[in-house]
Amino acid sequence: MTQNQIHDSSSNISQDCDLIIVGGGIVGTTLAAALKDSGLQVIIIEAQTLEQAAARQRAYNLSLLSGRIFEGIGVWEEILPKIAPYRNIRLSDGKSPGIVEFIPEDLGTEFLGYVAGHGVMLRALQQFLKTCDGIQWLCSAEVTDMGWEETGVTVAVRVEGEVRQLRSRLIVGADGARSRVRERSLISTRGWKYWQSCLTFEIQHQHPCNDTAFERFWHTGPMGVLPLPENRCQIVLTAPHATAKALKELDEASFLQELETRLGGVLGKVEVISDRLVFPVQLMQCDRYARSRLALVGDAAHCCHPVGGQGLNLGLRDAAALAQVLREAHQREEDIGSLTALQRYEQWRKGENLAILGFTDFLDRAFSNQWLPFIFLRRLGLWMLRYLQPVKVFALALMTGLKGRAPELAQY
Ligand SMILES: Cc1cc2nc3c(=O)[nH]c(=O)nc-3n(C[C@H](O)[C@H](O)[C@H](O)COP(=O)(O)OP(=O)(O)OC[C@H]3O[C@@H](n4cnc5c(N)ncnc54)[C@H](O)[C@@H]3O)c2cc1C
Repeated sequence: MTQNQIHDSSSNISQDCDLIIVGGGIVGTTLAAALKDSGLQVIIIEAQTLEQAAARQRAYNLSLLSGRIFEGIGVWEEILPKIAPYRNIRLSDGKSPGIVEFIPEDLGTEFLGYVAGHGVMLRALQQFLKTCDGIQWLCSAEVTDMGWEETGVTVAVRVEGEVRQLRSRLIVGADGARSRVRERSLISTRGWKYWQSCLTFEIQHQHPCNDTAFERFWHTGPMGVLPLPENRCQIVLTAPHATAKALKELDEASFLQELETRLGGVLGKVEVISDRLVFPVQLMQCDRYARSRLALVGDAAHCCHPVGGQGLNLGLRDAAALAQVLREAHQREEDIGSLTALQRYEQWRKGENLAILGFTDFLDRAFSNQWLPFIFLRRLGLWMLRYLQPVKVFALALMTGLKGRAPELAQY
């Protein structure tokens, strides 16, 4: 039994619930889905329509742990047939011949990861939430005001031209890198903008990828090649701002020439089959993930360099960890919005996220550096990854999410 109840009527302007999630992206919906059958009444506030939120043109590297989280929730059967598992990862340093190859036997798993479309995951989660009791959507909706009280938080939301007053024990900011919830709660952030931007697009290629994801490091920035079904790949190319902008604006023939130089001919003839999109790249970590009546998850709490494709995976771990903390607090009849309960979530996730933020930053800096001793050191690092099995397994376990504390949902 919850102390608050949802009165679901469009004429109501006042509504109570246990938990408000601002942001119905993949991280926010995963949190809601992981709270299925918890007995908590949840409202998700999303700025776009459900279809608009799912329409983002992007495919992500999805870690093994993220797959297990989806499996624990019960959405994996819907997602898995529509995404591409990959078995191998190849790392290389520019044109240097010393390639590091990771294979499933290194970890004793069937695959090393997946490449999944944004829409495939978000639509599966949206469908799943329709089957859950106690979860309600407000979209396209805008939070216009937030107020803090000792026992709860009040939120004013404009939806369909009407302002609703919501009251809840806890508000969760899952509203992305430019989080308004974080801004309004005056939580400060640390970090920096990189000297690079990220150019993403999809290609169709002649030769098969052989279930292999590539990460090739150039001194201008890394380039990830993520295999999709039917001889397609998502390319995530990081380069200095001006280069990324110039590449986006190049005519098609010149762009293909540039691309083929970077791919080294391994995929044969290549065709670009999507728009070329440019994103700024930043490293950001919040000073706090929680305060009384508030928690932050996903990009609202942290952002990292796209090398290694970790950002969404960290957010999914946040969502699963917070859901576990809230369930346990609720079962013990604790106040789910109390700082004591929420600090358990912060202590669990903040340090683990910082380790990945630091690792991705180190990778980008180490491979961008052209100073000879540095080149020697990174070649030594690659040599260790090739020939020292414990080093290889450690790096692989870190990037696939199998290091660190796994949420119960992902343990089966
Ligand atoms: C080029 C690029 C490539 C990437 N590749 C990978 C990868 O391969 N693997 C990986 O793990 N990560 C990757 N990332 C990172 C990944 O995209 C993010 O970490 C992830 O999308 C964050 O999810 P989120 O749900 O926290 O935020 P978002 O995806 O930003 O979702 C936020 C949601 O909140 C809604 N919203 C925003 N403001 C409000 C508001 N005020 N009120 C209500 N709703 C609001 C938005 O409409 C949206 O639906 C990449 C990032 C970039 C830029």
